[in-house]
Amino acid sequence: MRKSRVFVVVLIAALVAAYFAFDLGRFLSIDYFRGQQGAIEAFFRDHPFESAAIYFAVYVAVTGLSLPGAAILTLAGGAIFGLLSGVVIVSFASTIGATLAFLVSRFLLRDWVQSRFGDKLKPINAGIAKEGASYLFALRLVPAFPFFVINLVMGLTPIRARTFYWVSQVGMLAGTVVYVYAGTQLAKITSLKGILSPGLLGAFVLLGIFPFVAKRIVQAVKARRVYAKWTKPARFDRNVVVIGAGSAGLVTSYIAAAVKAKVTLVERHLMGGDCLNTGCVPSKALIRSAKFLSHVRRSKEFGIRGATADFDFAEVMQRVQAIVRRIEPHDSVERYTGLGVDVVIGEARITDPWTVEISKADGTKARLTTKNIVIAAGARPFVPPIPGLAEVAPLTSDNVWDLRVLPRRLVVLGGGPIGSELTQAFARFGSKVTQVEMLPRIMIREDPEVSALVKRSFEADGVEVLVNHKAKQVLVEGGEKFLVVECESVEKRIAFDEILVAVGRVANTAGYGLEELGIAVTKTRTVEVNEFLETTYPNIFACGDVAGPYQFTHTAAHMAWYASVNALFGRFRRFRVDYSAIPWATFTEPEVARVGLNEQEALEKGIAHQVVTYGIDDLDRAIADGEAHGFVKVIVKPGSDAILGATIVGEHAGDLITEFIAAMRHGIGLNRVLGTIHIYPTLAEANKYAAGVWKRSTVTRGQMDFLGAFHAWTRGEGGLAGVLGRVSSLLTDKRPVEPTSAH
Ligand SMILES: Cc1cc2nc3c(=O)[nH]c(=O)nc-3n(C[C@H](O)[C@H](O)[C@H](O)COP(=O)(O)OP(=O)(O)OC[C@H]3O[C@@H](n4cnc5c(N)ncnc54)[C@H](O)[C@@H]3O)c2cc1C
Repeated sequence: MRKSRVFVVVLIAALVAAYFAFDLGRFLSIDYFRGQQGAIEAFFRDHPFESAAIYFAVYVAVTGLSLPGAAILTLAGGAIFGLLSGVVIVSFASTIGATLAFLVSRFLLRDWVQSRFGDKLKPINAGIAKEGASYLFALRLVPAFPFFVINLVMGLTPIRARTFYWVSQVGMLAGTVVYVYAGTQLAKITSLKGILSPGLLGAFVLLGIFPFVAKRIVQAVKARRVYAKWTKPARFDRNVVVIGAGSAGLVTSYIAAAVKAKVTLVERHLMGGDCLNTGCVPSKALIRSAKFLSHVRRSKEFGIRGATADFDFAEVMQRVQAIVRRIEPHDSVERYTGLGVDVVIGEARITDPWTVEISKADGTKARLTTKNIVIAAGARPFVPPIPGLAEVAPLTSDNVWDLRVLPRRLVVLGGGPIGSELTQAFARFGSKVTQVEMLPRIMIREDPEVSALVKRSFEADGVEVLVNHKAKQVLVEGGEKFLVVECESVEKRIAFDEILVAVGRVANTAGYGLEELGIAVTKTRTVEVNEFLETTYPNIFACGDVAGPYQFTHTAAHMAWYASVNALFGRFRRFRVDYSAIPWATFTEPEVARVGLNEQEALEKGIAHQVVTYGIDDLDRAIADGEAHGFVKVIVKPGSDAILGATIVGEHAGDLITEFIAAMRHGIGLNRVLGTIHIYPTLAEANKYAAGVWKRSTVTRGQMDFLGAFHAWTRGEGGLAGVLGRVSSLLTDKRPVEPTSAH
């Protein structure tokens, strides 16, 4: 540490220590002030300038050192100096003190905090870089956070000191006036009756309602800015118009109709969106048929001497479509109309913050004015600009369902969940599949051993998995198609009949009015929303894949609740979308399911954790089913049974994880999971056994020694002295009997 830093640290430590050692806080209490009020006022009458200077210096020191007592000092300022002088003195003293605290925090901590927590501070840094002054102004005006916290935290951000000073001075002014005024009223109390004086009651009411009024003012100012160039209709045709009838849009409109709001749901293509038509439903139906074939191939494992399957891929794909059609009524126009939703098939376009124009298939147009709009326009597959790729008409998750002839050789580009699910399914139907992934592992978000298990399983199904391979180009030579890939500067060609691109999905943000309205999008090109799912315009919300950050059906539905409720009832209360305990599953074999943290994330984020693993190869039901593979891996908070996350790899992992989702969501720890009766023999017992592994890791050698001696004594084999002799080891030998890894 530089000498100057050491000096500042020592000085501050000494001042703070003196404050506590000499109990200086007692001078900053209402009682002390009331006791000395007469003397203080007399001193002020005789020495007005000295009084102001001493008060000013004390105020600056208290706020500069972030000591408690600034609020009492402000009240006292009102009592001593009166409203006008009090406001002027407090305003400058508090701003100078705050800036000192800000500078100290910046000088001592910023570099260290930015290097250590840079990742976590990214959004704050970005917020400050984008709208630093107004962000700080809102924090100053609405006293939601203690002022000293704002001073210290702002010191860690890139905001300029000068900006900090003037924004603080202006932003704190309204609060200062309210507090100083309350101080002038407190000074007037001479008897108990004074407590009920209108002036004092008024001051208390002001103190109470100030945060709410200030918050409303900040919201109103922000809203005025974004809506300035638009004319708001006098009345509205709808309470809410929802754009897109995928998972997010369906749930949004369902909730709106359920609470008797007038809602229109606009869909330009197919009701049910991606999940029903090109996503979850067809993929799971395809995977089911592929799994059946894999079981036929494994028939000997089940004691069946010979089993063969004769199939036509076209019929498999027809079954997939039949499944989609069977589920279709759940999302149909008829069902939603019956629920009270006005469903319109057509292309929606937002023309102003309260108007949606709908172009219908028959060429007619409709215009609806609406109090709120919910954008639920989903996402589409991203096709990277690889030379030659577009020319071979690649398959994506949108059109792969049209295939009726099984590709003999299939290249799957992408090692994420969608690419992996389809890779294994096509391999099991008999395609020669090569999966190409640029990163060092497939399913990179999961822990390395998860990727390794899935990769081994793919290879057993005949897949060639190429990791660290970058797709460079697609060539057609002599009627044959090739993907050129590069690994460690060596190029190689892979011949294929079809190529399936599954390298990610991009949100649908273009072509329906967002650009014209200036609705912001994020760096990852999703619609930018705040914690209430409001876009740049507080009456326009976004949810589901179009807004991210997760792109699953269940998260789309989860977000839809917030979008719908905040749109319809936000004027009374708004709800922050809760992303704790978000689960997901990849339906490969072995299935991979997760909720919360995994080990690699805990390590990356520097979160202290204990890893508890139970191998499913040991589970009775898994053995009986011939599926004895995989594991349950739980990330636990050290020294407690709190679950930070869980990953399950194995048969029905996506179902089994629900126990951990419920536990995390409702604050249930591993002790309670262990104390829950699980039916024998089921796969769900794996969760209980994982909890058992954790429990055993909490048992110490000292406890075991002690118990051994105790039971020996009850058998008459050892004396009481032996038991008592183990008491010290009971208290000191904390080594676990069965260690699990902890970080
Ligand atoms: C192959 C595959 C497998 C998947 N498997 C799973 C899984 O197993 N589990 C899971 O949870 N998730 C899965 N997903 C993801 C899941 O499908 C999506 O997260 C989900 O569909 C998102 O719903 P959404 O409502 O946000 O968007 P979408 O379902 O895409 O719906 C958006 C709708 O908006 C419409 N629209 C867009 N613009 C306009 C406009 N201007 N006017 C009118 N309508 C418009 C679109 O036509 C579309 O119907 C899978 C996805 C794929 C591709």
